[in-house]
Formats: sequence, C-alpha cells, structure tokens
Amino acid sequence: MRIALVWFRDDLRLDDHPALRAATEAGYLPLPVYIHAPEEEGGWAPGAASEAWRHRSLRALDAMLRARRSRLRIFRGPSLQTLQSLLAATDAEAVFWNRRYEPAIEQRDAAIKRALRRQGARAESFNGALLFEPWQLATRRGDPYRAFAPFWTSARAAWREPAPWDAPGGFDALPDEDAIPHGLALDALRLAPARGWDDGFWERFVPGERGARDALSAFVEGALHGYRDTRDVPAARGTSRLSPHLHFGEVSVARVAATVRASVDAPPADVERFLGELGWREFSYHLLHHFPQTVDTSLDPRFDDFPWAPPAPARLRAWRRGATGVPIVDAGMRQLRSTGWMHNRVRMIVASYLTKHLRMHWLHGARWFWAALVDADLASNTLGWQWIAGTGADAAPYFRIFNPVVQARRFDPDGAYVARWLPELAALPPPLRFAPWEDPAALRRAAPAYPRRPLVDPAAGRAAALEAYAKVRGPR
Ligand code: FAD
Repeated sequence: MRIALVWFRDDLRLDDHPALRAATEAGYLPLPVYIHAPEEEGGWAPGAASEAWRHRSLRALDAMLRARRSRLRIFRGPSLQTLQSLLAATDAEAVFWNRRYEPAIEQRDAAIKRALRRQGARAESFNGALLFEPWQLATRRGDPYRAFAPFWTSARAAWREPAPWDAPGGFDALPDEDAIPHGLALDALRLAPARGWDDGFWERFVPGERGARDALSAFVEGALHGYRDTRDVPAARGTSRLSPHLHFGEVSVARVAATVRASVDAPPADVERFLGELGWREFSYHLLHHFPQTVDTSLDPRFDDFPWAPPAPARLRAWRRGATGVPIVDAGMRQLRSTGWMHNRVRMIVASYLTKHLRMHWLHGARWFWAALVDADLASNTLGWQWIAGTGADAAPYFRIFNPVVQARRFDPDGAYVARWLPELAALPPPLRFAPWEDPAALRRAAPAYPRRPLVDPAAGRAAALEAYAKVRGPR
C-alpha cells in the first residue's frame, strides 16, 4: 500500500477535509501528522488561550482517528525536516495539507512544497479554510478590494456550493505500524495551562469536531432565528460562537454555510446576515493576503505619524484587567479573561475605547486579544483592530467614536450584560450601571472597590480623539 502523510494544521477535523479527501481518493493510506512549530509563525506565535484550545482540539482529533483505526502522530518542528525524516522513515510518497494564509506561514509552506518536490515527493495543498481563495476575487481593474460591500457583492455573484465531503468511516491499518515513528505524547507540547486559569473557558465551549458540530446544530435550531437583531445584544445567546471552531478548522466554513442555507424554516434575512458575517471572515483573509504588512503596521500610511498617546503601562493594565471605570468596557474585558471570548459588539466598544479614548496604538489591543482569545485569528484580529482604529481598509470613519455609555444603553438596555460580568454593579439601577460616576455616593455604597471615575471621561476623550484624528483627515 502507498502511504501519504496528511499534515494537520489549523484544520483539526476529518469531515470535509480536502487534503484527507485527496489522499484517500488517490488511493493512499493516510498517515495523520501534526507538527508543533510556533517559532515559524513570524512573530505571531499562538497565544496562551489559543494553545489551551489547541491542546483539547488535538486530543479530540486523535480520539476521532483512533475510533477509525488510526491515530495522530505529534512532532516538534522544524516542519520541513520533520516531514523529510517521516518520508524517509515510512517510505511515504506524498504529503498533503490544507493551506494556511498567514504571511509567514504562506512563505514557509511554499518553501516546504518546493523542497519536497525537489526531492521527488508529491506535495499538494488544498483550500480547506475559506469559501474563496484570498486572491480569487478582484475588482474590475484587477485590484484587491479595499471595501467590504463590493467584495461581498462579487463573492455572492461567484458563489459556488460544492457538497461538503463526509468523513471516512474508518481507515485501513498501516503496514508495519511499529516501524513508523510514534511521535510525542500530546502533554509533551505543554499547551494546556498548568494552573487552570482556563477552567471557565470550557463551561461554554467544547473544542474538537464534535463540539463544533453540536455548536452549529444548536445555532441553526436556536439563535439563527432572529440573528439579524439579536446578534448585537451581548447579554443574549444571539450568535453562533463558532469562531474558535472555525479558526481551528474543526468544522469547514463550507459545511457551516451549507447547513445554514439548508435550514428551511430560518428567515432568509437572518440567513443572509449570517452569511455576510462569514463574508467578513473571507474579506479579512483577502486583505491579509494582499496587504501582509498590516499585521503590524497601519494600512493607511497617514497613520505613520499619528499622535498616539505616549506609553502608559498603568492605563493599559487597567484596560486589560477590566478596571477602566467604564462598566461596558470592563465587563467585556472580564468576559474575555473568564471565557476566552468576547461578544463582537463589545469587542468594538473596548477596541474603540483603547484606540480613540485612550489613544493607544491598536497593536497594544491586538496583542492582548491575541494572547487572550480562544478564537485569535491573525486575519480577523488585524481587520477588527484596524477597522476600529480607522487605520485600515474600509475603516470606520474617523468621527465614529463609540460612546461606551450610549452603546451600553442601546445594546444592553436592562444592564444584564454589565451585571453578569461586573456583579459588584448589579445593585445599581440600569441607567447608573452604565455611568456609575454620575452618583458617587451610590457607587461607593454598592462597589467600594470599583474605580470612582473613568480613566478617560467619555465626552472629553471623544473631543481629544477627534482633534487628533482630524490631523490625518486629508486625502490618502
Ligand atoms: P457570529 O456572529 O456567529 O458570526 C459567524 C462567524 O463569522 C464567526 O464565527 C466568524 O468566523 C465570522 N465573523 C463574524 N464577524 C466577523 C468579523 N467582524 N470579522 C471577521 N469574521 C467575522 N474574530 C475572530 O474569529 N478572531 C479574532 O481574533 C477576532 N478579533 C477581533 C478583534 C476586534 C477588535 C473585533 C472588533 C472583532 C474581532 N473578530 C475576531 C470578529 C468577531 O468579533 C468574531 O468573529 C465574533 O465575535 C465571533 O463570535 P461568533 O462566532 O458568535 O460570531
């Protein structure tokens, strides 16, 4: 029997897995491999929350494989040398993998493909992560899109929906199994936190393919109905929470789109709105591919000289810890710390407060999200931060400065979200829960340890930000 290495990366599933499909359809026995090589990620090695998720996801993938008479072999990088020595040790003829699109990984993978082919191995990569390749859609002039609306219009026009591929029920045994390098035990990678600060993550999330499919089913039966309206309400379970599952490729985006579109009783407006959110994910990869420098520099060069505030470690610490004195901001940052996830509306509010009110460079926020989010994703995180900071493609206009008090009143009208994550403020009536400094005596009584005043007053911070942003308002 001919063997092909199937190199798993951020595609930790068996269902609708193009590389696995290609290997089996070409008549190879698949040998599943995972290689841990954070130093190859170009300065964006996965953060702690992400690694905690990966630990569980790898364990789940191995269990799925074992139930099919296979297993995941885990190694440490460098990736090329590991693949080469596995090819030599197993007499495998081929290496198949699904593409990743982070700039450093694209370069690495291209070099790996060239090297493997040079030595006579078959090396093939596939799109297992996106509805459209990041380079597939272009404006009429052949340029990359810089705005979401026309990008999504052309994506909807080009929409193809190939039927997702079902995972194989089992695999044939590999010949001479004992001669194949066994690899490392998962624990040897030390991805799981030792002190259990991630315990709260797993009350809501179940990493792995089964958890992803359950989350998708629960969404289609529940929050999809009314999604267009409730997706913006942070206290509701109004969104899919599929982001970490999609990031780790525990479910294919094609499977998600097909399942949602097949939901006959879901209102079309909700389905379309949800597909549009998947569209933002596609758009983020389009931008990352065409503007790879934006992972750490502003896309808009006018921001090279922007008067960001001088370093203020105490303020940054307060923002991270959820101690700014602005309840909706603090509630979001505490939700992030406790669960590894934050509602999209609140991500926008906390990001706006950091970049506009505190006028800190968006990279400070992007780096913290990178460490703390279980769905940390270089494309979506870069787009999200540059959009809010006003420095990126299709950015929010400079005068859009979220007023955190107005946002809280509008999207958390009864204060349930704030009370959930800041229980010390639950005793205050809702209007005061959003701006507790307005009644210092009540605040002191209810929550003596909560900051008396916001780090930056919403109105004064807005005025200062407008003044700074006005300086870069000219033509690009
Ligand atoms: P749903 O509303 O159910 O949406 C379905 C899916 O669509 C999501 O799972 C996600 O894959 C995609 N999606 C939705 N909104 C966006 C968006 N604005 N941009 C890109 N994709 C989107 N998302 C990440 O996956 N990883 C990140 O690191 C990340 N960082 C962000 C940073 C900032 C400052 C902001 C404002 C947004 C960021 N987002 C990021 C986008 C968004 O907040 C999350 O994708 C969303 O909250 C995930 O929750 P959900 O799965 O319930 O979303």
